[in-house]
Amino acid sequence: MKIDELSLIDLAKAISEQKITSYDATKFYIEKCEERKDLNAILEIFDDALDKAKEMDEKIKNGFKGKLAGVPVVIKDNILYKGKKASCGSRFLENYVAQYNSTVVQKMLDAGAVIFARANMDEFAMGSSTETSYYGITKNALDPTRVPGGSSGGSASAVGAGLTPVALGTDTGGSIRQPSSYNGVVGIKPTYGRVSRYGVIAFASSIEQVGPITKNVKDNAYMLEVLVGGSEHDETSLKTDVPSYLSQIKGSVKGLRIGVLKEIEEAVAGFEVEKSYRDTLKMLKENGATLVDVSIKDFKLTLPCYYIIAPAEATSNLGRFDGVKYSRRSPDAKDVDEIYFKSRSEGFGKEVKRRIMLGNFVLSSGYFDAYYNKAKKLQQKLINESKEAFKKCDCFVLPTTAGVAFKLGAKSGDPVAMYKEDLFTIMANILGTPAISVPFGKGENGLPLGIQIVADRLNEGVVYNVADFIESKGGDYARV
Ligand code: GLN
Repeated sequence: MKIDELSLIDLAKAISEQKITSYDATKFYIEKCEERKDLNAILEIFDDALDKAKEMDEKIKNGFKGKLAGVPVVIKDNILYKGKKASCGSRFLENYVAQYNSTVVQKMLDAGAVIFARANMDEFAMGSSTETSYYGITKNALDPTRVPGGSSGGSASAVGAGLTPVALGTDTGGSIRQPSSYNGVVGIKPTYGRVSRYGVIAFASSIEQVGPITKNVKDNAYMLEVLVGGSEHDETSLKTDVPSYLSQIKGSVKGLRIGVLKEIEEAVAGFEVEKSYRDTLKMLKENGATLVDVSIKDFKLTLPCYYIIAPAEATSNLGRFDGVKYSRRSPDAKDVDEIYFKSRSEGFGKEVKRRIMLGNFVLSSGYFDAYYNKAKKLQQKLINESKEAFKKCDCFVLPTTAGVAFKLGAKSGDPVAMYKEDLFTIMANILGTPAISVPFGKGENGLPLGIQIVADRLNEGVVYNVADFIESKGGDYARV
C-alpha cells in the first residue's frame, strides 16, 4: 500500500486496521518534508513525532479507536500545541513556546492524531502570499516560481506537494481558501463559531475560523468532524449539535437551488477564472440543479469593510505583544518606554505595522464613527442582504480567486493589489457563513483554479455536497 496514494480517510482506516503503522506513515511524511525543504512550507518537524507515532501504534494494538488514530497532521504556526513553538511567522514570537493546547489540537490528539510539524504563514496571518513571514517565503507546490497564496500558504503548499495528508489553516479573509485554490487542494472556512478559536493566536477575532486543508472534499468533511464543537474557553464558539458532514454528501445536486449572484457575474468578467466559473454553473444545471438569480447589492463593499474591521481588531489583539511578557524584548531597551517602542519596532514586520497603523486610525476618536462604526453597520446590512438571498437558494457559487497563483514578488510591493486578492473570499468572513474552495478547471500553464461554495450559517453539509459533486466532475469540464 503506497502511503501517499491513500486519502486521509483511507490512511486512517489502514492505520486503525494495522495494515500500516503510524510510525511508517509519519516517517514517510517527515522524509517528504525533508525532500521538499526548497518549498519552505514547513518551519519545524517536531522532534518527538516518531515517538508519539510509536506510542499510538501501541495504543492501537491495545484497542484504541479514534478518527485520526495514528494519522500524521500538520498545523499552522499560529495554533498552540503545548510545549511546541508557535511563532505566527513573526520575529516577535521567535522563541514563544505554547503553554497549553488549543481546543483544535486537543480534539485532534483525543482522536489519536500525530501532530508532526508546523507550517509557515504570513506574519500574524496578514497577507495573501506567505511572503511576509520572518522565516522566509514559501513556494507554490505546483510551480515554485509562484506564491502558494496566504496566509496559510505553508499548510496549503504542504498538502499540495504531498508532504502531509492534512494541514490546519486559519481564515480571516480568505487565508484557507485562496491558498487551497492556488495549490490545487480543498480548504474550508467553517461557520463563524463552529470551531473553537481557543489557543489560536488572534488576528481579527470576530471573523476568523480554523479549518482543514486536504486533498479532496470527503477528507475535508471527515477532518472537520474532528475539529468542530464548542469550548468553554471560547464564548463565541457554538454549543449547538454537530451533524455528520460526510453523510450529507449525496453524490447529486438534483433539485438544489444554486444562487448566481448578479454582482459576481459583473465582477468576474474578463478574469482568468471566468470560464471555470461559467462551466461550473453550466455543469451543475446539466446535472439537475436550478440556477437562481440572487443579489447582494453591497458585495463590492465587502473588501473595504474587511480592511477596516480586521485592522481594528488586529490593533487591539496585537497590543499584548509589548516585549514584557511573552514576546521578544529588544536587547537595547534601557527603560520601560524603550522596551515597548524598540521591541515592537524590531519585532513586527512591515505589513503588520501597516495594519496596526490602519487599525489605530479607524479606531481613533473623531474617525471611529466615520470608519469603524460605519463598517460594522455595513456588515449587518450585508448579513441582512444575504438572509434574503438565502431564502431563494441553497448556496452561492463563485470563484475563489481571479486567476491562478501569481509569480513570487509580483504583488509584494503593492499592498492594495495584495488586498484585492481577497475580493471573492472576504464576503463569507463578513457574513460568518461557511465557504469552501474546490479545484475546478485550469488556467495559465495548466495551474488550478478554485471555485467557492458559500451557504448560510451552519450549512456545511450543503457546501460539502456541492463541492464533492464539482470535484467528481472536474475531469470533464473547464479543461484548457
Ligand atoms: N489576505 C487577508 C489579509 O491579509 C486575509 C488573511 C487571513 O485570512 N488571515 O488580511
